[in-house]
Amino acid sequence: MSISGDSVLCIVGDSRSGSSVLQGLFELHRDATVVGELRRLELFIAEARGCGQPVPDCDQWGDIMSRANLRPKDVRTRAPQTRLLKRFEEAVAFSGTAMRASRLTSPFLYRGRTVANHSGRLLSAAAARASARVVVDSSKDPGHAVYLLHQKKLPVHVAFLCRDGRGTVWSKISRTGISPELAARHWVWTTRSMLALSRALGPQRSSWIRYEELCADPHTVVRRVADRVGLAHDGFGEAAHAARHDIGGSPGFAGATFGTVREDMRWREEMPRAMRATFDAIGGDLNRRLDYA
Ligand SMILES: [Zn+2]
Repeated sequence: MSISGDSVLCIVGDSRSGSSVLQGLFELHRDATVVGELRRLELFIAEARGCGQPVPDCDQWGDIMSRANLRPKDVRTRAPQTRLLKRFEEAVAFSGTAMRASRLTSPFLYRGRTVANHSGRLLSAAAARASARVVVDSSKDPGHAVYLLHQKKLPVHVAFLCRDGRGTVWSKISRTGISPELAARHWVWTTRSMLALSRALGPQRSSWIRYEELCADPHTVVRRVADRVGLAHDGFGEAAHAARHDIGGSPGFAGATFGTVREDMRWREEMPRAMRATFDAIGGDLNRRLDYA
């Protein structure tokens, strides 16, 4: 079974788990469009950041916001995430099914209702503008996915991206200088939230993707997800459009192609022994549960 009308493909995963690659591969499809990290749009507007120019000055985002009937200063796509996730996990723990989870989570979405509503309108406008059936939101945050699941405009399929915690943590440390403890704890927190949300949604409404498998065989993994949102296998092209207007994402990332996806395995050589021990103390059990030996 798959979604046949317009829909959102929402990518969820820790940073450095391949979300740019996955979004980039879907960007190659003639019936898909990508918006990047929608949850950061509000921040990008506030800080006058964007795709080379401030978001409100960008033709594409200007048009999307105007189609969504939102003035830039009114856009709300951010949420108080930590508290939400904690309560969400509690709700899921008691629910068992996605339907009941959504009933349980609705009451505390008081502020988030606006975020859900605005996100739905913006994604729908982005799809309409690009004449696309599927709009890809790579916000990555499990809390953002929960909000999207509470909007009524478009059905949502969640693509969870998981990666060996050691690779995730090392990649993050070498990029940002974040402490190993913090990086490991964030990986555990994100991965646990993903597992809870994935159990609640089930295989019809979500896909579980291993970064390592995505890199080893991008065609098979992407087609599996494409089936879920009703995108034809023969709709994937060779190269993406020249102009990039997606929010956030890896600096210098110029798009993905099926032939050039490679797994980043540097951590196996470069990650110091002491740092591995730190990770193991915090995330070792969970990593092994995910079959990362
Ligand atoms: Zn732009």
